[in-house]
Amino acid sequence: MKGLHDANMIAVDGDWRARDLAVLWHPCTQMREHPDALPLLPVARGEGAWLVGHDGQRVLDGVSSWWTNLHGHAEPRIAEAIARQARTLEQVILAGFSHAPAVELAERLLALAPREARRAPLSKVFYADNGSSGVEVALKMAFHWFHNRGIKGRTKFIALGNSYHGETLGALSVGDIPLYRRVYAPLLLDVLFAPSPDAFGASDEDTAIRCADAAADALAELLAAHPDAVCALILEPLVQCAGGMRMHHPHYLRRARALCDAHGVFLIADEIAVGFGRTGTLFACEQAGIQPDLLCLSKGLTGGFLPLCAVLATQQIYDGFLDDSRERAFLHSHSYSGNPLACAAALASLAIFESDDVLARNRVTATRMAALAAPLKAYPAVREIRQTGMIVAIELQPEPDNHDDGHAVEIAGRRGLRMYRKALEAGVLLRPLGDVLYWMPPYCIDDAQLALLATTTAAVLEEACPCA
Ligand SMILES: *Cc1c(COP(=O)(O)O)cnc(C)c1O
Repeated sequence: MKGLHDANMIAVDGDWRARDLAVLWHPCTQMREHPDALPLLPVARGEGAWLVGHDGQRVLDGVSSWWTNLHGHAEPRIAEAIARQARTLEQVILAGFSHAPAVELAERLLALAPREARRAPLSKVFYADNGSSGVEVALKMAFHWFHNRGIKGRTKFIALGNSYHGETLGALSVGDIPLYRRVYAPLLLDVLFAPSPDAFGASDEDTAIRCADAAADALAELLAAHPDAVCALILEPLVQCAGGMRMHHPHYLRRARALCDAHGVFLIADEIAVGFGRTGTLFACEQAGIQPDLLCLSKGLTGGFLPLCAVLATQQIYDGFLDDSRERAFLHSHSYSGNPLACAAALASLAIFESDDVLARNRVTATRMAALAAPLKAYPAVREIRQTGMIVAIELQPEPDNHDDGHAVEIAGRRGLRMYRKALEAGVLLRPLGDVLYWMPPYCIDDAQLALLATTTAAVLEEACPCA
């Protein structure tokens, strides 16, 4: 066996770069770009907002490791909670069996969930084990609920332009990022798209509200044009993250909520990226004062430690599946649904929100981020700087020779790669989305680290200047 191994590998023990490239196929990556155009950084450990390479290189995690990390890498309280749980119960089938972490987490999430006074609260939690799977759950539940009531014609979903909901075929169907979906178009569901309420370029709040109203009017028309055909509207409240950190006014969410009610359509809020304090409130829906019928939570749910997704549903939806027939039940499962380790991590993360008053600290950090970002507006390469809570997006002038036509695709185009490499050399992980550089750091980021983020971004912008 050893000989066979050796024949396949030029690498030696400890040469993680070469060993990796010999065996791994990385996510969201054109592997041809490794290792020359795109450096590969094997990480030995994490420490707060830092990632530490095997060679000792320290990299500030400006993107919270794909928007998952909240309180810092290897956060000891979460690590300890997972270790304690692992010594007690690591995994158990969640059909016919239950365990304390799954129950406690569901109780906590339901107590914290966005709430409208005049609406029955979200009252049931269904676990999946990653964001895309959770989106599939929400889509299937919405459709199946109508089906169970004998309404067979509501087979359509409405999604928003520029949206992103994950990569599995159902989730990809309700996404609108061309480079991710184009190839698979023949396989995807026939989804209705309403325009994004994106307030890009809006100079003041009134203009942002007008953008929201225009998009909501178009949504109203779409709903009217497809009477009794739609089962759910799915959207990312406040920030379309993968779509280039495009932000909209909460006014849109209120109008979308009202339109869903008027047409008897479920509202699915995908807070997979924006949930858990990212936008300034625990959940983005709170800023619009709305409550969805289905709420998808993942990414930061476990503080960024383990994959888990929670889909919160109303009693009305839950009750629609209660019957003597198995077929009316929601026969959806994932092997690791409600994994105890992941639930324990999530509970530990939620405890940190309380003990460390994370939302209050984030408000201070967000103000600091705004102050550091403001001077960057002076760079000729910068078109717009926008912010929602702990997300700052720096939109650059479009790159003339970008073959991905500026769509928000990670480190796409030559400029994107150049900026990514330049930032890495300076010790900061920034992964531009098309023409958008953004900061989405772990909440534990301190002032010195924020300053490094800002000076590195300035250096990167220098490089990105179209006149350079
Ligand atoms: C990341 C993301 C998903 C998909 O989650 P995965 O765990 O990567 O499958 C879905 N929706 C939104 C808004 C996301 O940002």
